[in-house]
Amino acid sequence: MEINKNYLNLKDSYLFRTIAQKVNEYKSAHPERDVIRLGIGDVTLPLAPEIVAAMSGAVAEMGRKETFRGYDDTNGYGFLKQALRGYYAQKSVELSDAEIFVGDGAKSDIGNILDIFGEENAVVVPDPVYPVYADTNIMAGRKVTYINGNAGNNFLPLPDKDTRADIIYLCSPNNPTGAVYDRRSLGRWVDYALDAGAVILFDAAYEAYVSDPALPTSIYQIEGAKKCAVEICSFSKTAGFTGVRCGYTVVPAELVRGGVSLNKLWGRRQSTKFNGVSYITQRGAAAALSSQGLGQIKESIRYYMENARVIAETLRELGLWFTGGENSPYIWLRCPNGMSSWEFFDYLLNNANVVGTPGSGFGANGEGFFRLTAFGDAENLREAAERIKILLR
Ligand code: PLP
Repeated sequence: MEINKNYLNLKDSYLFRTIAQKVNEYKSAHPERDVIRLGIGDVTLPLAPEIVAAMSGAVAEMGRKETFRGYDDTNGYGFLKQALRGYYAQKSVELSDAEIFVGDGAKSDIGNILDIFGEENAVVVPDPVYPVYADTNIMAGRKVTYINGNAGNNFLPLPDKDTRADIIYLCSPNNPTGAVYDRRSLGRWVDYALDAGAVILFDAAYEAYVSDPALPTSIYQIEGAKKCAVEICSFSKTAGFTGVRCGYTVVPAELVRGGVSLNKLWGRRQSTKFNGVSYITQRGAAAALSSQGLGQIKESIRYYMENARVIAETLRELGLWFTGGENSPYIWLRCPNGMSSWEFFDYLLNNANVVGTPGSGFGANGEGFFRLTAFGDAENLREAAERIKILLR
């Protein structure tokens, strides 16, 4: 018997464990100090009332013989696909039901979609970025090449003459940098993929945070993208579903590689290895996209984005370089005075009792940078911003 030895090539992620350990040690040594966390990547506001009502109604339906539901279409109920088509229509993107695959969140689909691609494909992943893209490929035995994000390109790397990719990951708005590709830059990637016959896996998990109408919220707003891109998105950050679990993947009918429809392949993969998202959850997701639901989830997003504005304003006053904070719940700053990511983590924890995330945990290019998030409580966040201002002034 042999294990999958590719797993042995994964680097252990000590990032969040080390953070928790350092914070716990600090709190044990200083129990009287109030430590504020600006490092969380999880939402904190509760589900919107419209969602709760829809899910409660669905639970009641499941409890009556006449309205009980068992297995259904693996790829999602018609009512949710219709709501998603409406959501995309507002972005001027037309989708058919068959192009939408409802799943249990973006993370699963990011990993699972690799089932439909051959092992030999060259994979390009931006650095820094959400670690799941690289790790899922390493698990499958693929070699990953990194493309550099840095202050020079505002952490929005573009293809160049040396780029050789079959599979390209793009995350916009980006975790951890908060940087957002504009139409022209995203167009460069689409042109590259069309030329090279590559496929872009576009992670739009934070699209709902984009308020600038000039910025794309779907890769399909870029001409030609339906011929070269899969879009993976989620209700996690849009509607507070991190604990509910619902997402969706769009595989356009026009996306064909090696003479084969990727939509058909993904459909085959899903119908074999997946059995759909619960009716109750899908009712909640559809409610999030109703006009009342959208109004309510946008309130939560406004709350987080006001937090982001406060942090961004503080950093601007301090003259620190950063990306994000607009059109994204993440703020990515250059550590002051040439400190490394972990040096700044310790400095901030010990002197301001504020916790963030060291940028080096998201890739080699994250060294010397630091991630703050806007998902916390507004009052705590203002207090944290004040402390940062006093410490770094
Ligand atoms: N993609 C990015 C960029 C993320 O930051 C996250 C979660 O933090 C996910 C995907 C995972 O989302 P989901 O909760 O839908 O699995």
